[in-house]
Amino acid sequence: MDVTQMLSDTGIRQSIEDAMRIAIEEAEIAKRKGENPYGAVLLDPEYHFCHKAHSQSIERSDPTAHAEIQVIREFCQIQKRVYLENYILVCSAEPCVMCSGAIKWAKIGQIYYSVPQNEINKISGGRLKPSCESLINSGTSQKVIGGKILLDEGLRVFEGFQFTPQDKLNK
Ligand SMILES: [Zn+2]
Repeated sequence: MDVTQMLSDTGIRQSIEDAMRIAIEEAEIAKRKGENPYGAVLLDPEYHFCHKAHSQSIERSDPTAHAEIQVIREFCQIQKRVYLENYILVCSAEPCVMCSGAIKWAKIGQIYYSVPQNEINKISGGRLKPSCESLINSGTSQKVIGGKILLDEGLRVFEGFQFTPQDKLNK
């Protein structure tokens, strides 16, 4: 099934949007803590809530502690498992290169995000990053990937936010 078919099911769309609101809430929590404003939610194959996380790079002194990595790492450790086949990941923004790799290795089945890379790029500047779809669906992968879910709510998190240069983080 492609993303349009998935989201034409009102039950599925509702579950994704409910999860997205939690992911956006997590992004707001990260922002208030001085982290980059990202959140992620993991749903099981029946679209039930499993776990949530936000960026914790500064709190953990760990550049890899992005919301998507945290939600995958924590849930896998709790569940003592390595793969999350048929699980659904809902992210407040399009996953970066590193997180797209983790999503691929975790074998997550569906990925939904709110704010796409090109919108983040308008705030962060620099050159446009690769799309998560080009990374997750490289090789033989054919995962369902949907963007711009609740985009207005997702964009609101970035209002007034400035990405701090890395050399300012380690005082
Ligand atoms: Zn990331």
